[in-house]
Amino acid sequence: MAEIHVTPKDDLITHEDSGFCVCGPRLDLIRHPSGATKWAYIHPSLDNRENQQGGRT
Ligand SMILES: [Zn+2]
Repeated sequence: MAEIHVTPKDDLITHEDSGFCVCGPRLDLIRHPSGATKWAYIHPSLDNRENQQGGRT
């Protein structure tokens, strides 16, 4: 089964399309509008961009 990998672009590291990526991706169930669901690895960015709300890049 091919997994989907959602990786942040231009991150501090190069993400592997693997569940063993150093960032520690979490497996999440993605729901499509059609109603189908797929498992996807969500890779967190390592530059903390999620925590910089309202900040400039
Ligand atoms: Zn990763």
